[in-house]
Amino acid sequence: MSLSYDLMDLETLTLNAKQIQDDVLKEILTLNVHTEYLQRFLHGSSDKELFKKNVPVVSYDDVKPYIERVANGEPSDVISGNPITGFFLSSGTSGGKHKILPMNNKFFENMIQLNALSSPFISRYMDGAKQEKEMKISFCRPLSKTPSGLPVSGVLSSFVTSNYFKNQPKEMYTSPKDVTLCPDNKQSMYCHLLCGLVQRNEVTSISAYFASTLAHAINFLETNWKELSSNIRHGHVSEWITDRSCRDSVSTILGEPNPELATLVDYECSQKSWEGIITRLWPKAKFLDCIATGQMGQYIPTLDFYSNQLPIFSMVYASSETIFGINVDLSCKPHDVSYTCLPNMSYFEFIQVDDEENKDEIVDLVNVTLGCYYELLVTNYFGLHRCKVGDILQVTGFYNSVPQFRFIRRKEMVLSIQTEITTEEYLLKALNHATLVLEASNLMLMGSTCYADLSTIPGHYVFYWELKSKSINGVELVNSVMVKCCCVMEESLSYLYRIFRSKDGSIGALEIRVVQEGTFDSLMEFFVSRGSSMSQYKTPICIKSSEALTVLEDKVLSRFFSDKCPHL
Ligand code: AMP
Repeated sequence: MSLSYDLMDLETLTLNAKQIQDDVLKEILTLNVHTEYLQRFLHGSSDKELFKKNVPVVSYDDVKPYIERVANGEPSDVISGNPITGFFLSSGTSGGKHKILPMNNKFFENMIQLNALSSPFISRYMDGAKQEKEMKISFCRPLSKTPSGLPVSGVLSSFVTSNYFKNQPKEMYTSPKDVTLCPDNKQSMYCHLLCGLVQRNEVTSISAYFASTLAHAINFLETNWKELSSNIRHGHVSEWITDRSCRDSVSTILGEPNPELATLVDYECSQKSWEGIITRLWPKAKFLDCIATGQMGQYIPTLDFYSNQLPIFSMVYASSETIFGINVDLSCKPHDVSYTCLPNMSYFEFIQVDDEENKDEIVDLVNVTLGCYYELLVTNYFGLHRCKVGDILQVTGFYNSVPQFRFIRRKEMVLSIQTEITTEEYLLKALNHATLVLEASNLMLMGSTCYADLSTIPGHYVFYWELKSKSINGVELVNSVMVKCCCVMEESLSYLYRIFRSKDGSIGALEIRVVQEGTFDSLMEFFVSRGSSMSQYKTPICIKSSEALTVLEDKVLSRFFSDKCPHL
């Protein structure tokens, strides 16, 4: 049996979510009924009720031994009825460690369907205007192999090395495919920008998978615009672009010397302020397409500044385990985006997390309650059954019969010194409030991460911040502004934090350590050198690895502490 939901449009997919979810589960159970994993719990049955009763809710670590057996050469049917043809390496920057997740081509087919489902919303937004070219900043990491010879790579790298990407029409993008496929991310970034500048009058949108990549691209442009413009002036690609196919295809796009364009790039990039640089260099750009929800929300003010507030569309919510949903309301402000679940992608269940009475109750997709918070469980086509993804979502509405969810936070990203639990949500709220203080002083937050420093008595929260000035004068740190940022952040933290800090004194004053410009690029390079893929990289909102902390600590310029206790 094979479901033909692949061809459905969003209306059909969302009209009868219950039936689709039941069919998806039936199909997965029928496929996997004889796998070693399911056999243990279902003894050959594919009954939904038995599945709910007998198959345990697991975390990745519980199924890891099974996954590793397949990676080490045992047959796919240890976990999956369909052949496993490779593994996705999760980014490891949100959860702190890499996971490998089984996959096959069906995942790529789903990615294609996802694009097809979201494109009408973009077309509608363009309102008849022609969507010409997309300047898409994406990267690839060379595939590695499991001991049994199966490919392992991030979802996005795997996709761009598959035929599904290679067969996409090349006219859609400013960069030739060889630029994305270049294994050296620095050469790749340089060439993306060069191709984008050369075709500046055709660019109607600028995109990357995550907002942080777009912020990184602007930083890169700031460091390299003189060289880029010189390449344009002379019609010659810099010698350090040594990847043959990348160099050849970019040279073709660069074409003859173009002093007129080079002069324009020089003029715009040497302006006092880089405010609106995106719209100045790419005047037809109508929107930015990148995920700006969850921890990516911290990049919204920076992108607003550089793009003169172009709309930012967070189109997709997906992970290495499954594609989950799409954003169907492009008029929504970036902070308020919700994702409409796509019920044909996997079988979804939800554990309620905000209600002590119903704690641990598991509900189906169509039985979630508006306003409630849930942890997501996935049963996918590649051998995961009732597996926790580690994300907390809130139900915000319905599209036909399908619930819509706001991404709230990663479950495990928490800071704690006493018994307080400071979740990603609190940290983001604190950062948002501090950003307002910075804005009033013409400063932008280019990167932030934090950790709980237990080496001091009492322990205290430490934030590493990279700042940039909105004007050309550079960053001038005013003590009172920085101390105010510390205080504003403490005021935004939980009641328990404020009690420990104010009454009990068992948490010390919150500290901000300002780091040199470029530090967060070094942090990204550190994670990429440890196996993360650059397209999937997300700056960790808090850091546990001592080696990563050393990267930051080496670049600290100055330190500031809050000077008063937060209110209770
Ligand atoms: P990975 O499997 O390494 O690609 O990471 C997937 C994780 O990235 C998800 O589980 C989420 O925590 C996060 N993520 C993916 N898409 C979004 C989104 N649209 N908004 C917020 N977080 C997201």
